[in-house]
Amino acid sequence: MPESNKAIKENPPINWAPTLIFSLTFLVAVTAVPVYGIMVGYDAVEWTVFTLMLAFCGLSITGGYHRLWSHRAYDANPVVRAFFAFWGACALQNTILIWCSGHRKHHRYVDDVDHDPYSINRGLWFAHIGWMLRNYKSGEVDLNNTQDLQRDNIVMFQHKYYVPLVVLSNVGVPLLLGYLNGNILGMLLLAGVLRLVISHHVTFFINSLCHAWGKQPYTNTNTTKDNFMLALFTYGEGYHNFHHYFQTDYRNGVRWWQFDPTKWMISCLSWLGLASNLKRVPSFKIQEAMLQMQFEKARKQLSLSRLPKPNVEALRQTLETEYQQFMDTMAEWKELRGQWVQQKRDAFEEKKQELQAKWQHATIRTRFKEMEYMLKMQRKRIQVFNLNFATVSAA
Ligand SMILES: [Zn+2]
Ligand SMILES: [Zn+2]
Repeated sequence: MPESNKAIKENPPINWAPTLIFSLTFLVAVTAVPVYGIMVGYDAVEWTVFTLMLAFCGLSITGGYHRLWSHRAYDANPVVRAFFAFWGACALQNTILIWCSGHRKHHRYVDDVDHDPYSINRGLWFAHIGWMLRNYKSGEVDLNNTQDLQRDNIVMFQHKYYVPLVVLSNVGVPLLLGYLNGNILGMLLLAGVLRLVISHHVTFFINSLCHAWGKQPYTNTNTTKDNFMLALFTYGEGYHNFHHYFQTDYRNGVRWWQFDPTKWMISCLSWLGLASNLKRVPSFKIQEAMLQMQFEKARKQLSLSRLPKPNVEALRQTLETEYQQFMDTMAEWKELRGQWVQQKRDAFEEKKQELQAKWQHATIRTRFKEMEYMLKMQRKRIQVFNLNFATVSAA
């Protein structure tokens, strides 16, 4: 890959602050933390504070930095935003503004070695942590893509007082709680250092492993992957293939059963009236993306097939008929969507027609449901087609 070589050859100066923080905290986490645990031990209070702080930091990054601020997937009450800003500073991953600017760039230029700040095409280590250790050109901060966030007072406050907030949350909180618990060192080691190191690497996994390991149910136009195992450790961010394709959706694990604690937290905040305007991609669009991927897979299998020519031709015919039906459904959906928007506008302008509009809305909604069902059934048929095809080819 000549392009990535070009990028790797770049040898910019070391970024000392993160390099020292990452290495020193890691060193303490693998030496002093276990040694102290064996020699003295940690009590239940220390473990509880460790767990709570780990969850607060993690969810503030995924629910706050990521889904709220980077993607505007929902709106949150100032109390919630202040919470995310404080515990986000505690996670020590830079200010909201800088983090979101880099993340928006990552989505815009995903995988590009020159513009994606943590492109996986520069290797797993680079995407995980290497990108922060030197002042790479691709990581240059340009806050122009955060104009909307600069209107948020809480974001600006955190940006201005980032260092004091970092010290207060990372040192002040464990120090105070350790003092109250009668043991400062144990609390500092567990809730201070170990919590920070775990919190760091869990987030970094999203940039490294979620671009390297897993399935691609929604798109193969980039390296992103859906991975249930990673979702377990990353507060639900493991469904990264879905997320990159539908980045404004407040959910990453879009099915109700997919493990996404960040999504559940946002839903709970909404029930409590602390979050609003939760954005969801129409489920029809999700079905469409999955079906497109399955058609692609089926076509690929057919092209590689060693079955007799007439059989392949017959299968190709079946597939193309299905695809035509898919395209027809898509066209109808688009048209109906246009009508739906128009009617909503009309109903808003002429309140008199409210009753009639309601009735029309109900009819359109029924048709939407029918079409969604059609796609779902078609997805099942293509799935069976792919499965049968694989079995026949193997025989
Ligand atoms: Zn994102
Ligand atoms: Zn990504």
